[in-house]
Amino acid sequence: MSNKIYFTPGPTQMYPGMSRFLQDAMQDDVASISHRSDAFRNIYKKAADGLAQLLNLPENYHVLFLGSASEAWERILLNTVEKKSFHFVNGSFSKKFHQYAIGLGKDAAKVTAPFGEGFDPASCAIDQNNELIAVTQNETSSGVAFPLDDIYALKKRFPEQLMAVDMVSCLPVPAMDFTQIDTAFFSVQKCFGMPAGLGVWLVNDKCVEKSNALAEKGVLTGPHNNLTELVKKAKDYQTPATPNVLGIYLLGRVCEDMLKRGIDTIREESKEKFKLLYQLIEDSSFLEPAVKEKTHRSETVIVANTKIPAGELNKRLDAKNMMIGSGYGDYKKTQIRIASFPCHSVKDMQSLTATLLTEDQLIA
Ligand SMILES: *Cc1c(COP(=O)(O)O)cnc(C)c1O
Repeated sequence: MSNKIYFTPGPTQMYPGMSRFLQDAMQDDVASISHRSDAFRNIYKKAADGLAQLLNLPENYHVLFLGSASEAWERILLNTVEKKSFHFVNGSFSKKFHQYAIGLGKDAAKVTAPFGEGFDPASCAIDQNNELIAVTQNETSSGVAFPLDDIYALKKRFPEQLMAVDMVSCLPVPAMDFTQIDTAFFSVQKCFGMPAGLGVWLVNDKCVEKSNALAEKGVLTGPHNNLTELVKKAKDYQTPATPNVLGIYLLGRVCEDMLKRGIDTIREESKEKFKLLYQLIEDSSFLEPAVKEKTHRSETVIVANTKIPAGELNKRLDAKNMMIGSGYGDYKKTQIRIASFPCHSVKDMQSLTATLLTEDQLIA
């Protein structure tokens, strides 16, 4: 592994110890064992139990493995929505979730907010007869977060509707109360600092019942990775198709380490790094916050408007073995995105902010 530190939002810096985890995996033939063996069942169980403990998952939740978070969009829509879903759209990822619903032929309504802004959900008109409400807790393209209390309030307002939360670039950092939502999902190449290619779908029994009911009614819920089959297999720590065994193994190791560090420590460090980054944005002459509303600022993907494009900054950061993310899509040249995940230490963040601050002298 090189010494470079990737502050990019995903793929990102590998979680500390990843080289060792990979070596152990090779040593233990993780990539060669059968996914129908007890050795695999133990790998699945370790990852699922570790996650459940880390995230404080309620008893009625299942931990399921998919190819990616994008796959979770499709699985959720196919398995829990017959006709109507509702989407909060304020960036590229929340927009895609909505577009998947349209693509699957659902009657998908949405409320949109300008790029860089969040929502006042209480003032949003939402039908009583949606089957599912889709929220993106951390919009990775714009760095806008959806406060957990706003999600809980939405669930109180629409208790019958399923609440689906995209937590791809923030879990395990936000202390989500999973009893107040019905399903969430993430990809491991963001906040878990792992190689890409594994999606994790957390889903409660209410979603499973809905999926079973839809299938009985003859509504298309599969065939690939349909929820009924995923849950049936998961009860025996199995998957319908051959999964990313190496990814699941690594997730178990990362969760184990996070539990050792303590989730409270990880969350405290996250707050500390957030402060360092906003201090940098305030102190520098070439950056300004892209998310004006303070309560909507993501703690894990910090976005700033920049006078110096990320490409330029990265040329200079490269000499110090560091790299940050550019703005997303149309904002490639005018914004930077800095990931602050559990794989990034407070010390790493101090080096980054100190290095970026010297840019001011270079401009002057
Ligand atoms: C990255 C990302 C996705 C998609 O994840 P993939 O692993 O590319 O499928 C979905 N939602 C959000 C918020 C993301 O950041």
